[in-house]
Amino acid sequence: MEQDLMQKIVSLCKRRGFIFQSSEIYGGLASTWDYGPLGAELKKNLKEAWWSSNVYDRGDIEGLDASILMHPATWKASGHVAGFTDTLVDCRKCKKRYKAENTDGKKCPECGGELTEARQFNLMLKTHLGSVENESNLIYMRPETAQGIFVNFQNVATAMRRKIPFGIAQIGKAFRNEITTGNFTFRSREFEQMEIEYFVKPGTEDEWYKKWIDERFNWYIKFGIKKENLRKREHAKDEVAHYAKACTDIEYQFPFGWSELEGIANRTDFDLKQHMELSSKDMQYFDDEAKERYVPYVIEPSGGIDRSILAFLVDSYREEQVRGEKRVSLSIHSSLAPIKAAVLPLLKKKPEITKLAKEITADLRGSIKVVYDDTASIGRLYRRQDEIGTPFCITVDVDTLTDKKVTVRDRDTMRQERIEITNLKEYLSRKLT
Ligand SMILES: [Zn+2]
Repeated sequence: MEQDLMQKIVSLCKRRGFIFQSSEIYGGLASTWDYGPLGAELKKNLKEAWWSSNVYDRGDIEGLDASILMHPATWKASGHVAGFTDTLVDCRKCKKRYKAENTDGKKCPECGGELTEARQFNLMLKTHLGSVENESNLIYMRPETAQGIFVNFQNVATAMRRKIPFGIAQIGKAFRNEITTGNFTFRSREFEQMEIEYFVKPGTEDEWYKKWIDERFNWYIKFGIKKENLRKREHAKDEVAHYAKACTDIEYQFPFGWSELEGIANRTDFDLKQHMELSSKDMQYFDDEAKERYVPYVIEPSGGIDRSILAFLVDSYREEQVRGEKRVSLSIHSSLAPIKAAVLPLLKKKPEITKLAKEITADLRGSIKVVYDDTASIGRLYRRQDEIGTPFCITVDVDTLTDKKVTVRDRDTMRQERIEITNLKEYLSRKLT
């Protein structure tokens, strides 16, 4: 039943242009995905919602867009070269590879063959910078966006005259050569993160850690995730990453079980101190008021964009019976919806109606993402828009020609209202906030 819902989401995503398998014409590349026209809109809207909430609405956070490729010393300092590994074993018989923790260490779980000795496998993707491939120009695709922020801590603090506490926010791609991928876009080797490193005075980190957990939990609710499908889960001591003192995950109840959407970690002064040591550059902050110098502590809310999108899709998916027919709709928050309104002529055979409908569409373009569709009956046109989460359908009918009013239908309530064409823009902008 629940896995059935996942299949419906995967099928809807492909059929309606949200998410396609990458390189599908060549048989696809394992667990990599392409966002289609509607998926690209949804992703852009989600990033904008996150950026606005953090960078614009707060006033204590600056944005950054660091490069994916970084000096290899970065990953020595961060501990990723030495410690970002999985312990793996191979089956000598069927050649399957497993995380050692998922086996008994002796026999292959599938064929019963003998397993190799466990060995460490680094999860960073490697490449070479420049035309020669050798050890000296080996670099990594960043496994997290965080380090781009840490290495720029002094640049941002100085350029923007920031005083602690303040944060730096970044959205960008990261890469991990995961052994186990799957559950559609939930775990893939190339993914996008939305991360904040929030720099605080040592001694205040516990308070900020708690604040950020609540702040981020409430953000998902604000954009429509049902509260009962979210929970906070604090990591056990042996589960916390090498750089952190404490970590709490915000988990979503996916059809395949409770899984992490975002982690809020207390990264202490670990990263800045490591960079200070390896680069010999001062990472201390001078506190004017207290007249003291210190390396700030860092609270990191780090969310996965791809898994958030999946959660918003799953959470908003509805099926119901309307007049004996199945209606599928995405009851997604209007600021995330890929298309905000669709203009639909009731009678496409009347040229005056289609002409006016096209004029209304053109007039709305530029202020909202709007589409025009006259390729089916009105019932069919409504269903098409419901399924992709379009909040409003605007129909133009015979009466529109004389009373200059259109019918605006709400996706969730299916209630209809007659609105003057001249008031339409204002009406939609009010409803879409
Ligand atoms: Zn085997």
